[in-house]
Amino acid sequence: MQPILYIVIPCYNEQEVLPLTAPMFSQKITDLYIDGKISEHSRVLFVNDGSKDDTWNIISELSQIDEHFCGISLSRNRGHQNALFAGLMEAKDKCDICISADCDGQDDIDAIDKMVDEYLSGSEVVYGVRSDRKRDSAFKRMTAQFFYKMMRTMGADIVYNHADYRLLSRRALQCLSEYKEVNLFLRGLVPMIGFKCSFVEYSRKERLAGKSKYPFKKMLSFAIDGITSLSVKPIRLITSLGFIVSLLSIVGISWSVITRFINGPTAGWASTISIMCFLGGVQLLSLGVIGEYIGKIYLEVKSRPRYIIEKKTEEKK
Ligand code: UDP
Ligand code: MG
Repeated sequence: MQPILYIVIPCYNEQEVLPLTAPMFSQKITDLYIDGKISEHSRVLFVNDGSKDDTWNIISELSQIDEHFCGISLSRNRGHQNALFAGLMEAKDKCDICISADCDGQDDIDAIDKMVDEYLSGSEVVYGVRSDRKRDSAFKRMTAQFFYKMMRTMGADIVYNHADYRLLSRRALQCLSEYKEVNLFLRGLVPMIGFKCSFVEYSRKERLAGKSKYPFKKMLSFAIDGITSLSVKPIRLITSLGFIVSLLSIVGISWSVITRFINGPTAGWASTISIMCFLGGVQLLSLGVIGEYIGKIYLEVKSRPRYIIEKKTEEKK
């Protein structure tokens, strides 16, 4: 029996691009079915992430004219990671394999063939890896590379140049559903699942229409979220910094006592102020990092739902 494939696509205010890319996904499913690789019950599952434009109406219409399409709509905007997770959990009990992709056509749709092939040869997780970023803006490219490097240095184990374009088997999806954390960072969670994995390279294309929903500010907070959800290395770094500053202060204290006896009392205003400012800065920064973790604990303890599904398209048999 051929596996049932679900392509899960989160959409936030994507009315411009959805009519262009939706037929491409549907065509891909038809082609794979004709090639005998997937079941005829395979679907494209859109997740409307509380869009304020016409996105949901487009999804509903698509589901009426083409049986390959179905969709769920979240009660409000919850962000890419939550929306994607909602889709994966919706697909979990209906599919054998699931591929997550963006709806803007940047992730090369033809890589789906290779992902399915990898699954058929035994992989449970297949990562889509960008082979080049020539078509991203120079700024996006630079900041993205910087974030990957910084995250790795900070102890977050993520796959280099892999975003959220990946295939997960039903078993991997079941395991992913066991992770109950509210601060979702799927790129970090998926490698934790384990199982046999493989990589498929694709070249990243330009957005077919509409605007990116990840401005620099959002990318920065995404990177900070990623690091603090996956690693406690920043807190360890603070401990090391505290240790080094303490050692230096022993040297400083000894030096000031010795010079007090050799030279008599001296006017030390500038040096005192500099040390105070430096230590004040270090302490506030350290408190900020620790606060970031406490904030995470606060949200985890509340364990609020990660998303609420408001409506679904009608199911067709
Ligand atoms: N997205 C979402 N909720 C959000 C922001 C983005 O579901 O709050 C979706 C968006 O519709 C797209 C995907 O996440 O399908 C990736 O977003 P985008 O293409 O804007 O990011 P970029 O490729 O520029 O990093
Ligand atoms: Mg995009």
